[in-house]
Amino acid sequence: MSSRKLKKPVKAVLILFPVILMIAIGAFFLIPEYQFQKLPYSDASKQVIKESEIINEISSKPYSLLLDCVMQETEALPDNWKLYLAYTDELLENTKTNIDALNEKGYEQNAIFRLLSLNQEDIQYVLDQKLTGQPFLLVDARNDGYSVEDSYCLSVMSRSQANAIQDARLPVTQTVALMDHGYSLEEIKQYYNRFSEEEFLLLTQMKYFGDLQEASKEENFRLKYFARYTWYKTNKNCTWKKAVADVNDKKDLLDENSIDYGAYYHDIQTIKDPENYLVLVDKQHKFKSSFVPGDLTAVSSTYGRGYLRSEVYKQFKKLAKAAKAEGYSIRAMSNYRSYNEQSGLYNGYVNANGQTSADRYSARPGHSEHQSGLCFDVTGGNGSMFNYHNDASYKWMLANCHKYGFIQRYRKGKAALTGYEFESWQFRYVGIGPAATIYEQNWILEEYLFMIYGV
Ligand SMILES: [Zn+2]
Repeated sequence: MSSRKLKKPVKAVLILFPVILMIAIGAFFLIPEYQFQKLPYSDASKQVIKESEIINEISSKPYSLLLDCVMQETEALPDNWKLYLAYTDELLENTKTNIDALNEKGYEQNAIFRLLSLNQEDIQYVLDQKLTGQPFLLVDARNDGYSVEDSYCLSVMSRSQANAIQDARLPVTQTVALMDHGYSLEEIKQYYNRFSEEEFLLLTQMKYFGDLQEASKEENFRLKYFARYTWYKTNKNCTWKKAVADVNDKKDLLDENSIDYGAYYHDIQTIKDPENYLVLVDKQHKFKSSFVPGDLTAVSSTYGRGYLRSEVYKQFKKLAKAAKAEGYSIRAMSNYRSYNEQSGLYNGYVNANGQTSADRYSARPGHSEHQSGLCFDVTGGNGSMFNYHNDASYKWMLANCHKYGFIQRYRKGKAALTGYEFESWQFRYVGIGPAATIYEQNWILEEYLFMIYGV
């Protein structure tokens, strides 16, 4: 009996112990799980949170702000939320700052939450933008490996347009620039396939040309020569095929001696924006006789003589100093010239050598670039302007002047395009950006103005 009496509780304990243990273990694991399941996350979100093993942390107080955001969220959480949810309090402070800033920017709470998955640099980029993009698209594009700039570009356009750009694997920022210029996505796709990477980049800087479509189909078409193709086609009234072939053969670059320099004076227009650094003054564009630049500055004897516009002089001084550091002496000896001075100069050449000769190298009054205050004739160490191409500094100037915003104005071999003989000594200020492009593309000013502005 006693043994039976004793045996019962032992048996009960033996039977109950594992059950109690199982209940205890179950409660230990199931109660937080139960609480967690009650949280209003989507199933996908819950899955991510569970995987991140921070179920307890997420319901603790400092994260209440984040929880508010989470509750708005209905879509699946991206992977990097795991990191985000595991932020320390210090990082949380930073996150709060971001939330406030994005909120002020006008983003809605679910959008903010999405944007918070970006790194700080990207978030700052978004904050710095004037427009408010579509955060979902932006974050997705960023995750797909697009740069933050490109992702932002995609996020500010319609979803269908963004998808079309992504599907076609077009470079985003450049495509958007081209769309701004008026190209259709279809055209952009064609050019992207037709042009080299370098040419496609150049296209984004150019004006829209409707006839580029047709011209660029020609064999051996090179985008950088488009100005010359166009001029040749117009002058010869020929096909694109002939224009492309002939210009590629340099048939538009006539011998200096075969050119009728006086014939360039036709359909003359008066310049409307004479103080523009990119003003085109040539045989078809003239200044009013009364035009004098408003900011002429005296050039000190260290740098030359006469007057240049203030910005031009400032840049010239930098150029001359850089040249000097490498052992070259460059001085601006013939700079701004008034209408009347040019008149006297030109008439002097006409009287001495006849008009045909004068028109080769001297501008008629109003047509001189010297009236702009933007150009100068340089003499090097040898003291002669006309021999400048033999000066030691000449090569240095050709290789470096663009860094200071200057270009050589009347280049060798380009007389047919400029209407003036080669002048090794005349340099012109156009600004650093344009000078760099002109240098890189090996253009003259006329080509640049045509390609970029259609002038
Ligand atoms: Zn000159």
